[in-house]
Amino acid sequence: MSNLYSVFERRFPADRQQLFLSDQHGLTLSYADLEQRTAQLAHVFVEAGLQPGDRVAVQLQKSASVLVIYLAALRAGLIYLPLNTAYTQRELSYFLSDAEPSLVIADPEQLSVLQAVAKESARPVQFETVDAQGRGDMLIRSLGKSTEFEAVACELDTVAAILYTSGTTGLPKGAMLSHGNLASNALILHVMWGGQGDDVLLHALPIFHVHGLFVAVHSVLMAGASLLLLDRFDESEVVRYLPKCSVMMGVPTFYTRLLAYDQFNRDCCDNMRLFISGSAPMLASTHTVFTERTGHAILERYGMTETAMLVSNPLQGERRPGTVGFPLPEVILRVVDEDDQPVAIGEVGSIQVRGPNVFQGYWRKPEKTAQDFTADGFFVTGDQGQMSDDGYLSIVGRSKDMIITGGLNVYPKEVEQVLNTVEGVSESAVFAVPDDDFGEAVMAVFVGGENCQKDYIMQVAKEQLSRYKVPKLIQQVETL
Ligand code: AMP
Repeated sequence: MSNLYSVFERRFPADRQQLFLSDQHGLTLSYADLEQRTAQLAHVFVEAGLQPGDRVAVQLQKSASVLVIYLAALRAGLIYLPLNTAYTQRELSYFLSDAEPSLVIADPEQLSVLQAVAKESARPVQFETVDAQGRGDMLIRSLGKSTEFEAVACELDTVAAILYTSGTTGLPKGAMLSHGNLASNALILHVMWGGQGDDVLLHALPIFHVHGLFVAVHSVLMAGASLLLLDRFDESEVVRYLPKCSVMMGVPTFYTRLLAYDQFNRDCCDNMRLFISGSAPMLASTHTVFTERTGHAILERYGMTETAMLVSNPLQGERRPGTVGFPLPEVILRVVDEDDQPVAIGEVGSIQVRGPNVFQGYWRKPEKTAQDFTADGFFVTGDQGQMSDDGYLSIVGRSKDMIITGGLNVYPKEVEQVLNTVEGVSESAVFAVPDDDFGEAVMAVFVGGENCQKDYIMQVAKEQLSRYKVPKLIQQVETL
């Protein structure tokens, strides 16, 4: 098996001057630039003493440089560890002590926080900074290096990236995805979604998550296509750039926001080939209204950090609203009862999966890994599903205690643990309430004394938790 970078490189367009990326600020990168810059940066990593298997933690604002860093890390056989830019000091401290990265690349404004956090780490950590415009000393230094670099050889199970997903116990777990996992999923999605060299993907997702980093970027690299990188999702910017694009991937909130935006109409979708949605449930009504407004049927798919993509509606054929479609080739999926026995068609059960895309386990948590697999090797997704008689899967709920708000996952337990630290709070419960914009919103109730102020509790929550985990609604109750 080759390094995932080499899998992509073999598919780069023969004419390396073709565009790989452009952004809103006038920056462009050709495939030749990508090849050369990732080689140069891989040399910087090696000269810094990094060895294959070492972790590179990256907490950066979205920019083309982040993708160069990601691909250079793959090329050098390092393990890429993307961190949400919203993480607070408390959250970062856990990730750095758990993953023990050798190198941390951060925004200059976050540097002192990360350095303070890393002081507690048992291993020496090097630091580099890259700013929101994608500029940094490390990148400047790399420009003097050779533009050739032989990608480090890898096995199918060599870990390429660790992505943290929170846990029902409140402690996040690092899902280890290998070069083989990511390569197989990228190839299957490329085939299933009909990737083309002349595709232009409108990229408005974050790039610290499986959706924006793997699904979107890998699709472009497999097709030798190009992407238009937006700093973030913004309706007006999307409407401005859509006429230049042919593919867009988003979470359901992107689509509901576009539908609420008057200037989003059929004309701006003229050049579009495909709209894809995932990471959270999309209402069948959103799907239907979107088709009425644009003439395009959104292709909904289902997957998760631990497994990459599992199920997809078809490119050709009916994209059925309220379903996520058929299991992808090579993915074995079953819907089972409490004894792991398949349920009848139409019955609700737990979704379990196997396949070359299923991760290598949780970083340094063999017991947790073992708990999440059945004796016959299926990964227990924690999602509840129902299969139709013609093979379409619907996700009908979750057995894992998790809230998905705007496509980002929040584990109630983690939020409750923070709320319970506030003096006077004796207990709390965190759960989802329906929200038109985010799909689900985080709500908390707590039991506490008379002096327990909601404002103060919220202040603590904001200090300790990433913004998206902070309850939108909070209420004091007599008892839970
Ligand atoms: P993440 O690991 O952040 O990608 O979150 C994965 C979880 O998001 C899955 O386990 C599902 O609960 C949920 N999810 C992803 N895609 C869909 C979808 N199309 N419909 C419903 N839930 C989804």
